[in-house]
Amino acid sequence: MPESGLHKQFDLREERIAILKRYALLLRAWRFPKDKKEQQLVRKALNLAVEAHKDMRRKSGEPYIYHPLEVAHIVASEIGLGTTSIICALLHDVVEDTDYTLADIEDLFGEKVAKIIDGLTKIKGIFDFTSESAQAENYKKMLLTLSDDVRVILIKLADRLHNMRTLDAMSPAKQLKIASETTYLYAPLAHRLGLFSIKSELEDLALKYMEPEIYRTVSQKLKESEEERNAFIEEFIHPIRRALTDQGIPYEIFGRTKSIYSIWRKMRKKEIPFEEVYDLFAIRIIIESPLAKEKTDCWRVYSIITDFYRPNLDRLRDWIAFPKSNGYEALHATLMSHTGKWVEVQIRTRRMDEIAEKGYAAHWKYKDNGSESGLDDWLARVRELLEGNTEEDALDFLSDFKLNLFHDEIFIFTPKGDMKTIPGGSTALDFAYHIHSEIGNTAIAAKVNLKLVPLSHVLRTGDQVEIITSRKQKPKAEWLKFVRTAKAISYIKSALKDDRQVYFDAGKDKLERILAQLSIEPTRPVIIQIQRYTGRTNLIDLYFDFAHDLLGMKEVRECFGNPEKNNWFRKISRPFTRQSKPGKSLTEEVEDTIKKNKGDFLIEGSKASSSFDVSPCCLPIPGDEIVGFISPGEPTRLHRSNCPEAVRLMSRFGDRIVKTNWMSNNADVFLSGVKLRSIDRPGLISEIAAVITGQYGLNIKTFNLSSTGEVCDATIMFMVTGTQQLEDTIAHLRKIQGMQRIERIGMEAGTAV
Ligand code: MN
Repeated sequence: MPESGLHKQFDLREERIAILKRYALLLRAWRFPKDKKEQQLVRKALNLAVEAHKDMRRKSGEPYIYHPLEVAHIVASEIGLGTTSIICALLHDVVEDTDYTLADIEDLFGEKVAKIIDGLTKIKGIFDFTSESAQAENYKKMLLTLSDDVRVILIKLADRLHNMRTLDAMSPAKQLKIASETTYLYAPLAHRLGLFSIKSELEDLALKYMEPEIYRTVSQKLKESEEERNAFIEEFIHPIRRALTDQGIPYEIFGRTKSIYSIWRKMRKKEIPFEEVYDLFAIRIIIESPLAKEKTDCWRVYSIITDFYRPNLDRLRDWIAFPKSNGYEALHATLMSHTGKWVEVQIRTRRMDEIAEKGYAAHWKYKDNGSESGLDDWLARVRELLEGNTEEDALDFLSDFKLNLFHDEIFIFTPKGDMKTIPGGSTALDFAYHIHSEIGNTAIAAKVNLKLVPLSHVLRTGDQVEIITSRKQKPKAEWLKFVRTAKAISYIKSALKDDRQVYFDAGKDKLERILAQLSIEPTRPVIIQIQRYTGRTNLIDLYFDFAHDLLGMKEVRECFGNPEKNNWFRKISRPFTRQSKPGKSLTEEVEDTIKKNKGDFLIEGSKASSSFDVSPCCLPIPGDEIVGFISPGEPTRLHRSNCPEAVRLMSRFGDRIVKTNWMSNNADVFLSGVKLRSIDRPGLISEIAAVITGQYGLNIKTFNLSSTGEVCDATIMFMVTGTQQLEDTIAHLRKIQGMQRIERIGMEAGTAV
């Protein structure tokens, strides 16, 4: 065995050099002022980590120590944290994975480091629970830990970023689990903490694993258009460059391309091809300016560029006077270029730029400014939410909380002129709860800009709001119909909570009676369809609203295609629906197809079981990226991998996912469909039908439409062999004169998080 021994020796020496190289890079990235003692501590942490992980390898076969070293590098260079965080990053997996204990760490590095490592070790288990509520409990715990020391979450984000960068080595099922957790939780957290570049990279990497085909296509197109884009940018900035130089303002100016994920999100939201995304890039101007002159200098630059290009005043954004609550400051202007294209220009100082890219960590660096309050505010809000309602269902809390993470923000003034930041779309009542729970609970009306309005009034940035209260007032169930913020929802629900179980049963009864009247069986897919239609994502809300007559026969009927309305149309629709038995609802069609398809197609998966069914929430067809969910005793359920429901499930029940593929040579047909809106005119319907039945002779299952006389909305379900047929058909439908909007059925309400 001498030879292999020698070989191993050689490898170890190579690896030793690789470790030292990474260490040197770390030291270079660590730009904080540091003394000898600090340097010694970091070296001590490295030595301990090397020793502790010495027999461990990553999935890729590399020595494990590369991982903590890379995480420390991200912490230093991309988040801009200092000594303590670097030490903690180096040691973050030691207590969890090796024989060293927390007490050892405390002996060697002190209490502060030990506390952060403890936090990091604890939040590690968050996604390792199979029960959904245990999971939500853990998330709640993590957010509490987070308010103890933000560094825990910052290091955790760095850890996640490195794991995402090295995801290739994992099994496909693991990749999906980790990628969906990332979109579901980590990217929004990074966003909220103002870590813009980390958020973008996490989103892009998650997309790469969840929808490889889309990721490849968009990045390919970006590459192909690069030269043209660069030429355009050069021409656009040429006169600005000269003027800035003449004025003696030190600056940096360049074009910055949107991330792949945000381009894709835009394509989906606006239903446009890549070529029509007009804001693929923005021009960024970064100037050197002392703190006291920042505002004046940024506006001076604005004045210079508007000498050359006409601005669109509706899209001027002043985030210097009104910074976003994640700390973002800049001036955004949209200008008309000489070639007739709108171009966004972002004007920032060096300080603002660092904060925009690195978030709160950069704030600490500019401490003199004293603007750490945004983060403190946010953490205080989280804590309040967590502690204020400890009995609240942890799952509700999780979805309400996520609601708040994604909203844009507006600025509202109190009667005394204090400015408050609240989520966009908030109503007067949300604002009341934002001020204080008691004000919310007793609110009866509001004055917005001195005019009396109901509590449901939606506020806009700049409004001045006064809440009128009455001691006799009590929270009402109807309020849940219009409030938007997690805080308001949670206070109202907890005020009504005692009655919740009663309402749950009553609401369930009532819905079942309505369904019975319509001869629809209350199966799971039926309930899901009603949930989707009404936007009530959890059952408690759904039944609560039925119990309170906030939902009723009308909504259920609409949800299932309103068979009695539009009698005139029934005549027209008959020819298209003749293949199906009369009187069948859309849901029954879906159910039938699912039954029929069961076991008809084969999917490959690591834990392949013998039967499958297609999830009605996203109706996957061959050509879609799909995942399967295993539930004991039930057929494996297939979802499209970008289905919001699937993302939610994957992030919570990671170990029940099987990565699945369609069998390539399948001749079966699957239920799919489109929803469209067109200008109504004679002959429109037959034209639509001709397109669908034309080229591929697709079999139409149902054809529902309603018309106001001017605009016609239609939902058409038909059978296809896969995405190619569906896309071709949609492309043809798009060409119909007067067509305004068309989208595939399945995830209309869903925007991937
Ligand atoms: Mn790790």
